[in-house]
Amino acid sequence: MQGCEDSFVFSGWPVMRPNWGMTHLKNVTPEMPMPVIRSCKQCGQKNRIAANHLSDTGRCGACKSSLPAVDSPLQVDATLFDEIIQSSRVPVLVDFWAEWCGPCRAAAPEVERTAREMAGSAIVLKVDTDKEQQLAARYQVRGIPNFAVFSAGKLVKQQAGVVGHDVMETWLRSAALAASA
Ligand SMILES: [Zn+2]
Repeated sequence: MQGCEDSFVFSGWPVMRPNWGMTHLKNVTPEMPMPVIRSCKQCGQKNRIAANHLSDTGRCGACKSSLPAVDSPLQVDATLFDEIIQSSRVPVLVDFWAEWCGPCRAAAPEVERTAREMAGSAIVLKVDTDKEQQLAARYQVRGIPNFAVFSAGKLVKQQAGVVGHDVMETWLRSAALAASA
């Protein structure tokens, strides 16, 4: 992804970057690819984290204090989804959800808890199926919530319906074990 490696600091989130040079492309959604931005808890600096380092402990570019592995679900668009699925070194749990879906709201705290408890060993993504209809169609998501687990870029598990964080964590640990076997 060109343009992601410089020291440009976003003033907010989400933001669009001007001059991305993609205006000649037709049928491209206006949502530009972007790295994950994390604010430093010490100094507030917004740090860009590459997709393949989300599960690592990093260091703030400004104050050098440590930036722990991502420990909450990341809301992603199709571009960021693909980038994280392809480059993650740990299993990825995806929660396909929608605003109007009651069971999705019931599942949300379980998804958040999974992200917290599996920080460093897994990544948790949330896909809004109203906004990302093509992504939902790609994985034949009909009923939501719908959970998918990816390991080394491949879909290894998919299941619709609310489950507890313990079940989600079991899926992720099994995926990690299978990957290392
Ligand atoms: Zn800092």
